Amino acid sequence: MTLDLLITNARIMLPGKGLTEATLGVRDGRIAVIADRGADLAARETLDCEGLWLLPGVIDPHVHFGFGSPETDFETESRTAAIGGTTTVLSFHRSKDIRESCDAARTLGETQSCIDFGFHFGITSHLHVQTLEEISARFGVSSYKLYMMYKGAAGLAQGFTDIDDGLLYAALRQAARIPGAIMGVHCENVEVIPLLRDELRAAGRDDLKAWNQQSPDFLEAENVHRVCYFASKTGAAVNIVHLSSREALDEVRRHRLRRNGPPIYVESCPHYLFLNDESPAGTYAKVNPPVRSQDDVEAMWEGVLDGSITTIGSDHVPRKRATKDKTIWAASNGFPGTGMILPLMLHEGYHRRQVPLARIVELCAANSARIYNLPSKGGIEVGKDADLLVVDPDLEKVVDPATLESHADYSPYEGMKIKGWPVRTLVRGRCVMQDGRITDEARTYPGGRYLRRAQSDAAS
Ligand SMILES: [Zn+2]
Repeated sequence: MTLDLLITNARIMLPGKGLTEATLGVRDGRIAVIADRGADLAARETLDCEGLWLLPGVIDPHVHFGFGSPETDFETESRTAAIGGTTTVLSFHRSKDIRESCDAARTLGETQSCIDFGFHFGITSHLHVQTLEEISARFGVSSYKLYMMYKGAAGLAQGFTDIDDGLLYAALRQAARIPGAIMGVHCENVEVIPLLRDELRAAGRDDLKAWNQQSPDFLEAENVHRVCYFASKTGAAVNIVHLSSREALDEVRRHRLRRNGPPIYVESCPHYLFLNDESPAGTYAKVNPPVRSQDDVEAMWEGVLDGSITTIGSDHVPRKRATKDKTIWAASNGFPGTGMILPLMLHEGYHRRQVPLARIVELCAANSARIYNLPSKGGIEVGKDADLLVVDPDLEKVVDPATLESHADYSPYEGMKIKGWPVRTLVRGRCVMQDGRITDEARTYPGGRYLRRAQSDAAS
């Protein structure tokens, strides 16, 4: 058989084996063969990767494409993703009636995205709960998100009338009936926040630490407890998304000790592993939940090492710098980060903290493939999609938003020198990024595919 592409001389990250000197062949967008180094295989094109690693493409399970420029985010944000080695994203799709909006969102992505993508659905009303089975089966979606920070007055300000503990319970009960479904929950107790926020504002505070103090760790932990407790009563698998604090992670650990409970997954984000509430990034690092103390940063690394954190997602929000150049109270929430997952995990995790590379790959690819029903993604194995990163572990680059192609024209990591970058990103065998630039071919023909991932679609 003639292969489309042969990758030679790389050290390849193989599941269960770690970095292994091997040769890898791609055919029809999939990994067709993994052979010994020096194996004699015929291919149309050969890529010599001496001195470099081959890693599976990063799966970012938490992006908000559409929060920057709704019409063009899939183009710009898929490019910024690919530049940093992210080859699959799961973006949040939210609307009044998902039955009427999802097809258009999918078409936009298929037209513009140069990486593969899927959706989670935002559950903000009883209509969403009532139609959950239908929209899951129809659009191939098995994961959702509830926004406990839009309860009550905070929700009404956003136009949400239904968000309360009743909706939380109803959604968990309904999700438990859908095979393979996971309910993600944003955990912050929004009923206490205004009390603390008003005091801090009255005291004249305008700094990143005040943003942490207005929504402290125990308000996250309290919500984590409520969600895990209700989940245990309904049998739903839950996912504590963008978990940020030691207090909240300890609460998850406590609930996991109960016998026979449904799984509790934890997602954390690069910013909770890399930034604290004294970061010079200031309002650029404003996010919900807030970036925390250095002790919380250390707790996140402990969670990475001991396995209590399941996945890493970026919570990517690509708004403009102008929305951030304000007081801490007025600045917009969230920031771009999907293309920074791998570089930050290599720089801070692998190089500085000696986190095993296999663990980083689990958190950034394999675990998301497993829990989100993406059997063709997440690892370098024969038969899987050839979503591959050629990585130079020693390449140092200063983070410069001008080269990152995001609609957002800033980065909270701006000016930092980061060690460990992909030099090529392949999506199903096709090179979409080379030497930090999106290829002309990927610009002309983006080629990203929509990923159906309901359990009935994919035996996993
Ligand atoms: Zn959230």
